[in-house]
Amino acid sequence: MPQEDPVADPSLFDKIVNLSKRRGFVFPSAEIYGGFRSTYDYGPLGVLMLRNVKNAWWRSMVQLRDDIVGLDAAILSPPAVWEASGHLTNFTDPLVDCRSCQERFRLDKLEDQHICPNCGAKDAFTEARQFNLMFKTFAGPVADSAAEVYLRPETAQGMFTNFMNVLTTSRKKPPFGIAQIGKSFRNEITPQNFVFRTREFEQMEMEYFVPPDEAARWYEYWCQERFRWYADLGIPESKLRLRPHDPDELSHYSSGTSDVEFLFPWGWDELEGIANRGDYDLTQHAQHSGEKLEYFDQASGERYVPHVVEPAAGATRTTMAFLMAAYDEEEVEREGAGKGEKRTVLRLHPQLAPYKVAVLPLSKNEKLSPKARDVLHRLQPHFMTEYDETQAIGRRYRRQDEIGTPLAVTVDFESLDDNAVTLRDRDTMDQSRVPIDELVDVVRERVG
Ligand code: ATP
Repeated sequence: MPQEDPVADPSLFDKIVNLSKRRGFVFPSAEIYGGFRSTYDYGPLGVLMLRNVKNAWWRSMVQLRDDIVGLDAAILSPPAVWEASGHLTNFTDPLVDCRSCQERFRLDKLEDQHICPNCGAKDAFTEARQFNLMFKTFAGPVADSAAEVYLRPETAQGMFTNFMNVLTTSRKKPPFGIAQIGKSFRNEITPQNFVFRTREFEQMEMEYFVPPDEAARWYEYWCQERFRWYADLGIPESKLRLRPHDPDELSHYSSGTSDVEFLFPWGWDELEGIANRGDYDLTQHAQHSGEKLEYFDQASGERYVPHVVEPAAGATRTTMAFLMAAYDEEEVEREGAGKGEKRTVLRLHPQLAPYKVAVLPLSKNEKLSPKARDVLHRLQPHFMTEYDETQAIGRRYRRQDEIGTPLAVTVDFESLDDNAVTLRDRDTMDQSRVPIDELVDVVRERVG
């Protein structure tokens, strides 16, 4: 049977924004001062999940490979870097003002380039101006042009400028990669859709340096690898697609770019771009710096400028996509809940779940608490573990479901005698009895 195309669910957006605030994933920044548009803070759960997303990326890109090494380059960088990369001239978006309501928009992201989405005015936009997205500031006490610096709008350039440093110190040879996770800053004209597009965000980028005649093959390879990464971490393949750019979307130096897209509540949109960048970056930096940025193959005596294949993902944007893909609501009949009661459950991959396991004494009781705390202390060195003894047990299960904790351990009065606990599964709600001495191993088997 042909599969039906999945349909975007617009109601999911508010559910995720609300859950993020209510449970402590993401808060609007500076909220006590009325908030600061488009900036967000990651709360106690968000910081764990964001870190898990970055760790999962690092694990697959660096830890499990012998051809990729890591880097953590500076955020502040001199104009020379951005002159060479082309960002000073080209890193712009077309900005239009509505003459009627004075709102500003990014022309290429408007649904209808003739209608103002704010006031509905027709053909009231000004001519588009190219607006540079880089944040400029000054290093040191004197605010003159000699002190100008930029906050990086992508992490990639640090990997190009360090190409020779990494090549000579890591003893790698093409094909090899440099991977980096870190903050980037773009003065977006219209930040929107919660943490999808913000002015401060985190990226996970990798530059893969290859012999020129192998670039096309590696580009295909990285498109497949990166698609798989999202699917392996729990996003259903029906909500993922790989979209090759049309020729008129490509940067002038790129011979191929594909986006990994996710079906967001507003439709298909980008999670990550994979680009075949040719030798553009290294050649530009070699010309502007006067340094040789090339590889000399001692075996063949050949000297060449490697080509670059770049998978560039957003950590913050991706975290939101994982939340959206994991969100589920279902009716439950068990655990004291009346028939037809709704439970919200985040079916997060265990690797991404903020907490792997929760320890929940059956009730707040002076005999149970010490036993439950003993269980907590056994689990804590191995897993992010939450402890909660407030409220009725059913409500505590619901809370753990809603924050995606894969396993809950209940310590009850029987535990005092048989030294065993009840292990409850988030997805199936099945319960099994496990001896406390075996708990760490059983949990490890279930959540990795
Ligand atoms: P767009 O055209 O939507 O502005 P882009 O294609 O220029 O974005 P890239 O430069 O390819 O984006 O950035 C790589 C990844 O970094 C994106 O796929 C996205 O996940 C993330 N990213 C880029 N800009 C932002 C932003 N303003 N907020 C959050 N994440 C971002």
